[in-house]
Amino acid sequence: MPELPEVEVVRAGLEPAVTGATIRSVTVFDERSLRRHVGPSEDFIERLTGLTFSAAVRRGKFLWLPLAPSSPSSALEIQESHALRAEMGGGGAHSRDIPEIPPETEPGAAGATPGEALVVHLGMSGQVLLRDAQQPDDSLLRIRLQLDHPRLGPLRVDFVDQRIFGSMSIDDLVATPDGRAGGLGDGAALVPRQVSHIARDPLDPAFSDEQFFAALAKRKTGVKRALLDQTLISGVGNIYADESLWAARIHYDQPTSTLSRARARTLLAEVRLVLGKALAEGGTSFDAQYVNVNGASGYFSHSLNAYGRQGQECPRCGRPIVRESFMNRSSHLCAFCQRVR
Ligand SMILES: [Zn+2]
Repeated sequence: MPELPEVEVVRAGLEPAVTGATIRSVTVFDERSLRRHVGPSEDFIERLTGLTFSAAVRRGKFLWLPLAPSSPSSALEIQESHALRAEMGGGGAHSRDIPEIPPETEPGAAGATPGEALVVHLGMSGQVLLRDAQQPDDSLLRIRLQLDHPRLGPLRVDFVDQRIFGSMSIDDLVATPDGRAGGLGDGAALVPRQVSHIARDPLDPAFSDEQFFAALAKRKTGVKRALLDQTLISGVGNIYADESLWAARIHYDQPTSTLSRARARTLLAEVRLVLGKALAEGGTSFDAQYVNVNGASGYFSHSLNAYGRQGQECPRCGRPIVRESFMNRSSHLCAFCQRVR
């Protein structure tokens, strides 16, 4: 699963390309990629076509693109482009171009209603790729959005997914309970309904360390299970949990109730450090699946200390890193540096 750094790499790549861009057409090549969308593909296509993306936002591993009515200038451009395409006889079986003038933007309307967002789940192998018109189709292409950007012109957002655990869906935006921004990338205090139960991630300025420590102390669970619990802290998956625990010298099964405040503080600091470092290196790419919007891999896999390094030396003490089965997956640790205390 892509974790916070990999999803943030995608969000940061999408942000300049999609913000302010109008959705000219939508093509669904594989309905399985709409598994989280309530309604058929026709509904997905009709509701998106003609709208504009106002931002690219992320909380933890969740990514969404808030939707706004099309601006009058881009609506005009779309009409022109539609007229051109109609002359050329464009349009596919499951694709729909804008048939009429999009509704005019009413001043203040966007701020008055929370609206909707396109939610992107990357799943195990989902990729969001920015393409220009000349680039050939990917064989695993599931959904395509044709956009018109006011400065960049026409571009394609291709959702490519090998294993089809990922998806796109339209969801309502709801107010955040604390009135703070819903995620990174947009100041609006809104979050998609399906993300509203997800905790803030540790790189979010509105993340409360004290709330996290208090919740951690109350849990009757092992510390790694707590780190993976997206309702407690979001964005951390197996890779960065193992790396943070190694750095903080904490065993994955250490009961959270026995973790001192000082050690919990160290752990959270290491979580932030490892996420930040991974982000700076473009994320961790295994099997070339977690890629940025240009299809390029990150290189944090070369900086891992524990994850995937079973049998190799612990960079701290030289003893071998071991892999133990954990929650249908595995944990990687140095059994000497990381002991249950
Ligand atoms: Zn060690």
